[in-house]
Amino acid sequence: MQTAFYGPSKAAPCAPFALSQNQVIQRTLAQSVSCVGVGVHSGKSASLTLCPALEGTGYVFIRTDIASFKNKIQARYDSVVDTMMCTKIANSYGVSVSTIEHVVAALSGANITNVIIEVNGPEVPIMDGSSAAFSKMIDRAGVQTQDSYVPTLRILKPVKVTHGNASAEFVPGEGRVISVQFDGHDRLENLVDEVEFSFDLEIDDFSELLSDARTFGFYEDAEKLWAAGLAKGASLENTVVIQNEKVINEGGLRSKDELIRHKVLDAVGDLALSGVTIVGHFHGINSGHALNNQLLRVLFATPDAWTLK
Ligand SMILES: [Zn+2]
Repeated sequence: MQTAFYGPSKAAPCAPFALSQNQVIQRTLAQSVSCVGVGVHSGKSASLTLCPALEGTGYVFIRTDIASFKNKIQARYDSVVDTMMCTKIANSYGVSVSTIEHVVAALSGANITNVIIEVNGPEVPIMDGSSAAFSKMIDRAGVQTQDSYVPTLRILKPVKVTHGNASAEFVPGEGRVISVQFDGHDRLENLVDEVEFSFDLEIDDFSELLSDARTFGFYEDAEKLWAAGLAKGASLENTVVIQNEKVINEGGLRSKDELIRHKVLDAVGDLALSGVTIVGHFHGINSGHALNNQLLRVLFATPDAWTLK
C-alpha cells in the first residue's frame, strides 16, 4: 500500500475505458482549498486542505504533522481500523486519521475521484457536523476533468450483513442508489417522522439533498464520553443532540428528515472507500459506519457477486 499512493491501486486502475452507461470520468480539483475547525474527539484546532491529485490517486490523506516517509494514508475500505464513533483509517505505520466520512462524502457526492487531503493532526475538523463546509470548498476550488474513467463495479447478486436489528445490503439494480431506513430504532421512534431516505449518486444533487444534514447523538451517551475524556470537541455547534426524545439544539432540526439524511450522507462517504463506481442498490436498516465497512469487505470477498469493468 505504501508504494501505490500516487499511482493506480488494485481497486482503482486508471487505464482508459470506453464510454458506456454508468461510467464516471475521473475528476480532481482545479486548485487547493483549506478550512480550519475543531477535532470532535480532541477538542483541538484542526486544519484541512484539499489538493488536486493525479489520475488513479483516489483519496489520500497526508498528516502534515508526521514525517513524510510514513504520513500518507490511503482512504480505502481495507484501511479502516475503527468505526466506533466515526470512520478512522490508518496506514501500515499505525498513523491514523479519524472522522474522514463527511469530507469523503462531499468529494464522492461531487464525483471528485482524486484528491490529496492534508490534515495537521489525527482528526478531520468536524465543522458543523455535516458535509456543507466541504461541499462549499469543492465549489470554490472548481473541478478539473481527467482523461480516464473510474472502474465500474456492477452488483450481480445480493450481499448482506446484519447485526442485531441492523442490516446493510447490496442488490442488483440500475443507478447508484443509496437508501437508509430507521426501523424499530427504539431511541428515535418518537422523534423521526421520515424513516427512509433514498439518494441516487447518478442523478441526485448531493449539495442540495444531503450536504447540510448534521451528525447526531444522544445526551446520555455524550455525558459518558465526556466523563471518559472523549468527544471533547462535541457541542451543539457540531452535533444534533437528542435528550429525552427531543432535539435540544436551538432551532431544532434543519429539516424533519435531517437525521435519516445524515445516515445516507455517512453511507455515501463510507461506500466511496470502495474505490470504484458501484452500480446497484445499497439498502441499510439502522445501519452505520461499522456495517457499511463490513458490507464492502464481504462484497470484495465475494467475487461472484459482482463484475468489474
Ligand atoms: Zn456522520
